[in-house]
Amino acid sequence: MEPVLALVFFALGLAFGSFLNVCIYRLPQGLSVVRPRSACPNCKQPIASYDNIPVLSWMLLRGRCRHCQAPISSRYLVVELLTGLLFLACYAHFGLTLSTLKYATLGFLLLGLIFSDAETQLLPDKMTLPGIVLGLLFSAIVPVNDLVSQILPGLISLPASAASWRWLSLMDSFMGMVVGASFIYGAGAIYLRARGIPGMGFGDVKLMAMVGAFLGTRLTIFTLFTGSIAGSLFGLWTVGVIWIKRMHRRRVRLHEAPRQARRRAWDSATIALRRFPMPFGVFLGGMAMVAFFFGNRFLSWYWRLQ
Ligand SMILES: [Zn+2]
Repeated sequence: MEPVLALVFFALGLAFGSFLNVCIYRLPQGLSVVRPRSACPNCKQPIASYDNIPVLSWMLLRGRCRHCQAPISSRYLVVELLTGLLFLACYAHFGLTLSTLKYATLGFLLLGLIFSDAETQLLPDKMTLPGIVLGLLFSAIVPVNDLVSQILPGLISLPASAASWRWLSLMDSFMGMVVGASFIYGAGAIYLRARGIPGMGFGDVKLMAMVGAFLGTRLTIFTLFTGSIAGSLFGLWTVGVIWIKRMHRRRVRLHEAPRQARRRAWDSATIALRRFPMPFGVFLGGMAMVAFFFGNRFLSWYWRLQ
C-alpha cells in the first residue's frame, strides 16, 4: 500500500461522503441533489464553501450552524468518515484495480441506503435502480466468478463466443440479482403473514437486487443469512431494553409485585416491537459490506468444515 495513494483514497472518500450526505437528506424527499446549494435547514442561510469542508468544518463549528447555531446532525461527520474509511479499505484490500472502483461504488451506494433507511425508513429508487444497472455493467469489467462461471462450462460445451468470461460473469450478476430480489420478496410475504404488518417493502427487494447484481449468488445468500441474524439480534436486544425499562418503571411508579411487573412489561415490550418499523435495509446493507470484504474468506472456511 502506497501511503500517498492511501491518503488520496481517504480524501476522495471524504469528498464523496460529503456529497452522499446531500443525497441522504434530499433523495428521500424527492429533491434534486444538484440544485440548489446546500443551506441550513433551520435558518435557510446558504452554506459557504469554507464551511463545507468534510469533517474539518463540522469539528471547527462544533456541529452547529455558523449563523443560527442550530445543531447539525453528527450523521454528517459519521458518513464522511465512513466513506473515507470505505475508500481507503477498498484500496488496501483490492489494490489499484478495477475491483476497488467496483466495491467503492457499491459501498458508497450501500452507505447512502443504510443511512436513508435508518433516518427515514426509505430506500430511494434513485440509489437502488442505478445501483442494479451499475452492478450488471461492472460484471463485464470485473469478473463476478460465481456459480455460473464455475459450473456451467463443465456441464455443457459452450460455443467459443459464449465461453468468454464476460458473458459468464454477466449471467452470474443477473442470477445474483434474481436470487436477491426473490428471496426478499418471499421473506417479505412470509413476514407479512406471520406478524400481520409489512416488514420488508419493495425498497428492500431492489436493495437486494442491487447487492445480487454486484456480488453474485453466493455472497448474496451470505448477506441475506447474516443480515437476518443481525436484524433478529437487534430486535431481541430492543425488546430486552424496553422490557427492563418498563419493568423498572412499573415497580417504582405503580408499586407492582415483581412477577406482575415482569409479565406486563413483557407484554407491552412485544407490542412496542410490533409497532416499531425494523430497518432491515440497515442490516442487509451492512452485511453486504462485510460480504465483499470477508464473505469469500468466510465461505471457504465454512466449506472446509464440512
Ligand atoms: Zn442556520
